Amino acid sequence: MKLVTFIADSRVRPGVVDGDHVVDLAAAGLPVDDHGDLMPIVRGGDAMLERVRAAISSPTRRALPLEEVRLAAPLLAPSKIVAVGLNYIDHCKEANLPVPGEPVLFTKWPNSITGPYDELHWPQGVTKEVDYEVELGVVIGRRGRNISEKDALDYVCGYTVVNDVSARDLQFANAKQWDRGKSLDTFCPWGPWIVTRDEIDNPHDLEVRTILNGKEMQKSNTKNLIFNINQIIAYASQGTTLMPGDLIPTGTPFGVGFSRTPPVFLQHGDVCECSVEKIGSIRNTVNLARSI
Ligand code: ZN
Repeated sequence: MKLVTFIADSRVRPGVVDGDHVVDLAAAGLPVDDHGDLMPIVRGGDAMLERVRAAISSPTRRALPLEEVRLAAPLLAPSKIVAVGLNYIDHCKEANLPVPGEPVLFTKWPNSITGPYDELHWPQGVTKEVDYEVELGVVIGRRGRNISEKDALDYVCGYTVVNDVSARDLQFANAKQWDRGKSLDTFCPWGPWIVTRDEIDNPHDLEVRTILNGKEMQKSNTKNLIFNINQIIAYASQGTTLMPGDLIPTGTPFGVGFSRTPPVFLQHGDVCECSVEKIGSIRNTVNLARSI
């Protein structure tokens, strides 16, 4: 299933995509919290997903045409975003950084979350070197700590697309403040939905791509991940509780802008599309007229 958070009539609600329609899960009586997003659905685990399945086929369902709603990020306020850096060998090489011996984790602050088709913006006095990074995103579905590699995928609700937008000048300056450089407002567009785990046979064989203004900039496959999803979840949960809704962007491949000659940084009016095979695409336009 494709789980979405959508906005219609100025209200944020959880939904599920059925063909070219969105079935309103709030209208179907499923739980909704203050954010109106998918969090109660994700937190409800497999039993809640069964209720979602029933809502799709209910004769009394309320369904809206997908093209008439606006999609928001699937989760607006997860407890954390645990991102993985340097997780493709060809990306380590282009960044001139050694291939790590264990996963390199960093945080994107939740204020960075924005919708799958929303505008990206930033204050030009803060950064002038903003870059794109397509990544497969993993959404945690069950609370867990010290999870084994063998059991790790049982803790996954589903998969999504993330653009790990990064201000390189902030990331690499001032004693390497990765978190700050990756956490400005709008720097974590993701979605357009969470594809539930049962629909992705092998998350370690999915093509990932970035198209910038119509030109292909990144193209790889999650089979090239240095640390796979099982290893990342096991490592990240050592002594740290992962919560339902936690988002794990799994790292970006070769082709980012800052290591090109000449470098490519996002500019006003740019359209950046990131996609993951079998999941979908997010597409964000840069609008620096909004930056303050
Ligand atoms: Zn990244």
